[in-house]
Amino acid sequence: MDFKLGEEYEMLRQSVRDFAEGVLAAGVVDRDEKEYFDRSIYEKMGELGLTGIPFEEKYGGAGMDYLAYAIAVEELGRVDASAADTLSSHVSLGAWPIWRWGTEEQKMKYLVPLVEGKKLGAFGLTEAGAGSDAVAMTCKAVLDGDSYILNGRKIFITNAEAADTYVVFARTGPKEMRSKAFSAFIVEKGTPGFTFGKFEKKMGLRGTQNCDLVFEDCRIPKENLLGQEGEGFKMSMETLDGGRIGIAAQSVGIAQGAFELALAYAKQRVQFGKPISALQAIQFKLADMALEVKASRLLTYDAAWRKSQGLDFGTDAAMAKLKASETANRAANQAVQIHGGYGYTRDYPAERIMRDAKITEIYEGTSEIQRVVIGNAILR
Ligand SMILES: Cc1cc2nc3c(=O)[nH]c(=O)nc-3n(C[C@H](O)[C@H](O)[C@H](O)COP(=O)(O)OP(=O)(O)OC[C@H]3O[C@@H](n4cnc5c(N)ncnc54)[C@H](O)[C@@H]3O)c2cc1C
Repeated sequence: MDFKLGEEYEMLRQSVRDFAEGVLAAGVVDRDEKEYFDRSIYEKMGELGLTGIPFEEKYGGAGMDYLAYAIAVEELGRVDASAADTLSSHVSLGAWPIWRWGTEEQKMKYLVPLVEGKKLGAFGLTEAGAGSDAVAMTCKAVLDGDSYILNGRKIFITNAEAADTYVVFARTGPKEMRSKAFSAFIVEKGTPGFTFGKFEKKMGLRGTQNCDLVFEDCRIPKENLLGQEGEGFKMSMETLDGGRIGIAAQSVGIAQGAFELALAYAKQRVQFGKPISALQAIQFKLADMALEVKASRLLTYDAAWRKSQGLDFGTDAAMAKLKASETANRAANQAVQIHGGYGYTRDYPAERIMRDAKITEIYEGTSEIQRVVIGNAILR
């Protein structure tokens, strides 16, 4: 067992850190204030090869693994949680299912431009009445000759209108078939009958877009069925298992960023004639933050390594996501606390980080659902 990351990983970390500090940091406040998704940032991530880290070179990828991908998402999250979310949603949820279940034709047509960062991916599972309980979904696809006719509405979808290629889940069988009643489809932006609904105004991650996907008699060619009919629910759950590694990595990055800001501030803020870092009350907060960040990072890297090795990783990913997202929230909260009143203002980044952190406990399975997953696994 070797906990030292190889040179390849360290080089990747450094190049993503340079990109985050050199390119993302300058506009992160502006994008948050204006609630603005900047496509050019995504394109730069594509040019750097970040959009294709865990995919083979034959599909335009870097041929690295999930550990490398987790490190990249972490480094983005340390500076800009929105950029980490864009990449994570694109790779884990938009591109990966096409890599996993796509035919060779589908991969050449849809996966390659996603991997190369020329197109942006998205994942449409959630509906107004079907969040944690995805089986309650009502979005429907009916086979009609050579196409499926899709009707329904997905909500909260990350990358929203900016995306080009969507993996969308819909009911293709009767209720009695329960989890076997769903299928997955690749839907292209611009398909007649596919439009965008309400755009969300969010607490955090305001450098990303989220909106409803609306399908009204939207005809999808039969060849855009992803995997087998009836396998959609299983596919969505397997995709989310992997996605949780991305959210865990994003959370580790958020927590690391919050810790570094709090540490720097504590060293320079003087009260009672000395830096507040000399106070044991503040040192204990910093010690807890450092400890939790390290524990979360180890869990995240372990889950990413297991996925890369082809080992079971679903429970490990749930543990990593649960621990890291709670760490991100506690660290962000303590960073605000250490900044005192200044931490509550928009003059300092701690308040944005606190707003950004909250979603990590909600999307790709809430913390309660992660506990259900872990509980089921240990009692199985
Ligand atoms: C910013 C953002 C981005 C998102 N991006 C996407 C995306 O790209 N694609 C996509 O498909 N979805 C996306 N989502 C949806 C997200 O994954 C869901 O919001 C999430 O899964 C929770 O579903 P819900 O909001 O319906 O909450 P609900 O399922 O209604 O949960 C409400 C509360 O009940 C609890 N609860 C529910 N069931 C149980 C249970 N069995 N045991 C214990 N507690 C339970 C939950 O933990 C939660 O606290 C996004 C959401 C947001 C806010």
